[in-house]
Amino acid sequence: MTARPYNFSAGPAAMPAEVLEIAAGEMLDWHGTGMSVMEMSHRGKAFGEIIARAEADLRSLLAIPAQFKVLFMQGGGLGENAIVPLNLSRGGAVDFVISGSWSQKSHKEAGRYAQARVAASNADTKHTTLPAPASWAIGGDAQYVHLCSNETIHGVEFHELPDLKALGSDAPLVIDFSSHVASRPVDWSRVGLAFGGAQKNLGPAGLTLVVVREDLLGHALPICPSAFNYQTVADNGSMYNTPPTYAIYLAGLTFQWLQRQGGIAEMERRNIAKAALLYDFIDRSAFYENRVAPEARSRMNIPFFLQDESRNEAFLAGAQARGLLQLKGHKSVGGMRASLYNAMPIEGVRALVDYMQQFEKEMA
Ligand code: PMP
Repeated sequence: MTARPYNFSAGPAAMPAEVLEIAAGEMLDWHGTGMSVMEMSHRGKAFGEIIARAEADLRSLLAIPAQFKVLFMQGGGLGENAIVPLNLSRGGAVDFVISGSWSQKSHKEAGRYAQARVAASNADTKHTTLPAPASWAIGGDAQYVHLCSNETIHGVEFHELPDLKALGSDAPLVIDFSSHVASRPVDWSRVGLAFGGAQKNLGPAGLTLVVVREDLLGHALPICPSAFNYQTVADNGSMYNTPPTYAIYLAGLTFQWLQRQGGIAEMERRNIAKAALLYDFIDRSAFYENRVAPEARSRMNIPFFLQDESRNEAFLAGAQARGLLQLKGHKSVGGMRASLYNAMPIEGVRALVDYMQQFEKEMA
């Protein structure tokens, strides 16, 4: 295969080339069935094998305990912003930790179905810090506490999940792990429910992963659509309605690829090295800048700025010409953003740093 450009998109994001090649080879005929995976009945034997293996591989990769259900859904992260309160709020109060745009959106949407409160916020630092758990105002009546464990736009990541019990709360913790799932281990002892769109680190858009502790099922509000009732989805093995079959297949191939790489521990090791390479370079430079507090910095999404923003367009054009794609920052933050998901090799980060150095010299 010819070398592909390095794609720094925040999502939909680069997939491992090996996964795309396997899918290409199996496109017209999956394992002698004479059918593409997208042409198969979701109730047939072949797809049954694909989804069962995908779930088993994901469970083993992420060390998901037996008392959690794995649900393959649709609707994306924003869909879950409604689906979670419809299933878990019991119409009562829920507490949100605001750490950036995505948790803010979650809080706003939940307000349509529950009493959505703010337990903590980093808005005063423009979402560049992590609100310290000891300062969170969690109500005794909270049905759950929601946080976004990696803020894709602001580049802020919780490197440790809070222990709500130690904070005096029995509420389950809900995490939106869309943009760092499978980049590091998850401490399931601290989690009640985790959700994420697949399109950053697991596969293509269209698949939404939900991992939910069994005791949280069965409390959906009467207005909850049946196809979004976690109990119904779980009882039907994620096939109450037609699941996103091709996206599940590609995610399954990605899980196998992750296993071949050495699993989540190895991915975490690589992700730490990749992020350190870029942050260290930015921090040493007087030409570029990252504004997130060091202890809050995301390994996955690294927003950065040129000190002289009039050079942004030239920077992006030069990057594109070198095969460094999709580096433009989110419009709400501006500047640049490099997303370093699992499929980004360290060579891609080296190529980016080389280019940044070169560009700085040219502008001197
Ligand atoms: N949460 C996070 C952390 C995200 O990064 C995104 C998408 N960028 C979403 C939620 C929204 O996901 P979707 O577009 O799949 O609804």
